[in-house]
Amino acid sequence: AGLGLAKKGSNQTSDTPEDSPDAANPAETSLLMKIIRQGLVESKLDIEIQRKDPNSPLYSVKTFEALHLKPNLLKGVYAMGFNAPSKIQETALPTLLADPPQNMIAQSQSGTGKTAAFVLAMLSRVDSSKNYPQVLCLSPTYELAIQTGEVAAKMAKFCPEIKLKYAVRGEEVPKGTKITDHILIGTPGKMLDWGVKFGMFDLNKIRVFVLDEADVMIDRQGHQDQCIRIHKCLPPTCQMMFFSATYDSAVMVFAEIIVPNPIIIRLLREEESLDNIKQYYVKCKSSEEKYRAICNIYGVITIGQAIIFCHTRKTASWLSEKMSKDGHSVAVLSGELTVEQRIAVLDRFRGGLEKVLITTNVLSRGIDVEQVTLVVNFDMPMDMNKKADCETYLHRIGRTGRFGKAGIAINLIDSPQTMDICLDIEAHFGKKIQLLDIEDAEEIE
Ligand code: ADP
Repeated sequence: AGLGLAKKGSNQTSDTPEDSPDAANPAETSLLMKIIRQGLVESKLDIEIQRKDPNSPLYSVKTFEALHLKPNLLKGVYAMGFNAPSKIQETALPTLLADPPQNMIAQSQSGTGKTAAFVLAMLSRVDSSKNYPQVLCLSPTYELAIQTGEVAAKMAKFCPEIKLKYAVRGEEVPKGTKITDHILIGTPGKMLDWGVKFGMFDLNKIRVFVLDEADVMIDRQGHQDQCIRIHKCLPPTCQMMFFSATYDSAVMVFAEIIVPNPIIIRLLREEESLDNIKQYYVKCKSSEEKYRAICNIYGVITIGQAIIFCHTRKTASWLSEKMSKDGHSVAVLSGELTVEQRIAVLDRFRGGLEKVLITTNVLSRGIDVEQVTLVVNFDMPMDMNKKADCETYLHRIGRTGRFGKAGIAINLIDSPQTMDICLDIEAHFGKKIQLLDIEDAEEIE
């Protein structure tokens, strides 16, 4: 099957992955960010409440005590080092724990405390005197399900009576068995098999249904349909919780199918800005000259750490080889690395073991490294039509409030086309990008 499809697009490009632009895979990016995260992403912005149930007042809490959790669950929360609810938790938790239960759609960027919020709600809704599944949590991939399960296990450290099971590939339950665990965390396919196909638990007895990483979920072929099929078997009294890092119309259409009468809350991402960034461009004639420009910059200014963006893996590895030969300590992060390897690279860079990180668009946003003072666009960010990709430019160069320290951005320009891109970006943001004469680079300090 698919013979006809396999050739699709092949006349358009003969690129190998090496030569073609790297793009981020949403499920992998999400996992990577969870693993390398060090604590909460704070936000100065306020929660936006888009819709509320007029019959029930929406309130927020400033402490975990105010939630009247089971004492052993509260103990678990504190043992994780959580002192006070995060911004999204302040508003989400009272609703998620309310009686009668309320449905919720919540959106906020990764790292703001959504997982901790719904895990706490899942654990507090379990009636451990009843030995059957009462809570279902769907994640888009095996790895993301395990991450959520690990948070649940930590938080339930002092509640050994609560039993959790993964419904993911590799987990086998003999046919005819009835599952006795209280909480099932897994991927839609496995959950559908266990619940609908083999009847290993009764979907009609589920009291809480969580759909996590909804934006990643709809990105995966078939997942959305599987979620909807599971959802159809749930009782009308089941509490629905829906979480997403992004908020676009596709996600919201999906949300409205899954969650009747929701309370919708959003925490906007703090805007990135170019305000504290000095932007320059350097005219070069070739890749070699671009390379020399980087070396010259290194010769004249003291740089904390730098990130250099390339368009393809091939350029990234060419550049890293040259820089290493010249004695720079460089790390490379590109699409061929496994998640484990990417984590290792980023950990080393964070720890300052390498001063330069060379990367492609696999690293477009979200990896804020505070010590980075210089960002170089070895290749200008462009879209599929080779036009300026202003959004990617902002993600590479811009900083949010928390990391709003001063920085330098240098764009290496090697053709009239890339000059046009540079001018478009300058016009788009209304912020001057100055010509830098690399022989006279003291001026950038
Ligand atoms: P999200 O699901 O939105 O990506 P998480 O729930 O995974 O966010 O939380 C992000 C990070 O912040 C995790 O390392 C988590 O342990 C931590 N965290 C979550 N809630 C709190 C809190 N109330 N106080 C301190 N740290 C928290």
